[in-house]
Amino acid sequence: MEINPVKGTHDILEDESRKYYEVESLFRSLAFLYGYKEIRTPIIEHTPLFLRSVGEGSDIVNKEMYTFDDKGGRSITLRPEMTAGVLRSITSNKAYVNKELPLRYFYNGPCFRYERPQAGRYRQFHQLGVELLGSTSYLADVEVITLGYKLLSNIGLKNVKIKINSLGDDESRANYKVALKEYFTKHIDSMCEDCHHRLEVNPLRILDCKVPSDIEIVKDAPRMSDYLSEASKDRLNKVIDALTSLGIEVERDENLVRGLDYYTGVVFEYHITPKEGENDVGAIGGGGHYAKLLKELGGPDLEGVGLSFGEERLIYVSKEAMGESYNYEGPDFYFASLCEEALSKNLSYSEYLRNAGLHIETNYEVKSVKSALKSALKLNAKFIAFVGEDEIKNKVITIKNLKSQVQQTIKVENLYRNALELIDNYYKDLNN
Ligand code: AMP
Repeated sequence: MEINPVKGTHDILEDESRKYYEVESLFRSLAFLYGYKEIRTPIIEHTPLFLRSVGEGSDIVNKEMYTFDDKGGRSITLRPEMTAGVLRSITSNKAYVNKELPLRYFYNGPCFRYERPQAGRYRQFHQLGVELLGSTSYLADVEVITLGYKLLSNIGLKNVKIKINSLGDDESRANYKVALKEYFTKHIDSMCEDCHHRLEVNPLRILDCKVPSDIEIVKDAPRMSDYLSEASKDRLNKVIDALTSLGIEVERDENLVRGLDYYTGVVFEYHITPKEGENDVGAIGGGGHYAKLLKELGGPDLEGVGLSFGEERLIYVSKEAMGESYNYEGPDFYFASLCEEALSKNLSYSEYLRNAGLHIETNYEVKSVKSALKSALKLNAKFIAFVGEDEIKNKVITIKNLKSQVQQTIKVENLYRNALELIDNYYKDLNN
């Protein structure tokens, strides 16, 4: 019986994984430039971690978590996002003691949400992102938003739209929630079941509802901007001004609330306007400021700001920008054994050239010239090296350039030098 992949999961095969590798490399180099250090936290955490951070009013906690009891009867959850684990780790390891603030961490890894699979939405997906903790300055928000923007431009993405909003400080949010509750209570009878629950737990979440008739009701709801304190408004404006001075355009979106309960203050999302015929995969990344999360998880009272991108969505929108150049290159040399004795010779030649940093492939079978050529072409090799009885007798190797078709014989004693020269000239010809 054939066993299929679990619904909502996907295998990342060779050409695709190359793209993940490239995006991750660009991200890592960029994160290092800003002083972020890598953190790797477990995929499984105690369930209460997410109840307390992502929040009981959120769709993630209500409907999307992979939660199970382990054999010891503990409730365990596969992480649906990364921030909570990173902050838990900082707390567990007291990573803030004797450290210069702010702390800067970057991460990358799989997350799990039981969502309805569709374009850009999986049940196992990958996030990469950063957390900055221990600065109260608006410049911390600016740094993180800028880093995200730079990643997108380093990937080569155009049409980037950054949406920004402020969820306000405690006081602003408390007043706003009261106003929302009053407004939605009048309409709740005609709203979806989820909104009934949201109204009780966190009416802000209703602003995120995707049910078309509820969206109509949301349109006339009280506006967040009318409830923001002067300090919150001032901070949002300062962030927008600083980004503008760096040449980064942002667009205020009053309905942007984000799906996680821990955000306070400035929140933001990155979108790419889809081209004709392409799916709109929604936000490719997002993040925001969280004033109290670390403290609520038992850590010190340090404010933070974080950002995370979904790698699947990044790669989907980057297809054109990244092109084919990120596909795997073929080997520099394919070593063909034309007789039994050549197999062991080729083993040592291959090892020898790999030590010189060359990419060598061979298969451990005796082949005819024709069949070896076919294999080398299939692998997209630059050169094929033939070793048969004559070559062994004369201590030489026959090498053919598979692009120019030029064939030559080199002495085994010159293999290292000649092989490097051939590759060097191959690239020179390619660039001419
Ligand atoms: P969030 O943690 O909800 O703020 O999500 C951050 C980013 O993760 C989003 O902008 C998406 O790019 C990505 N993401 C979230 N959920 C999924 C999913 N189910 N499948 C693929 N990517 C996702």
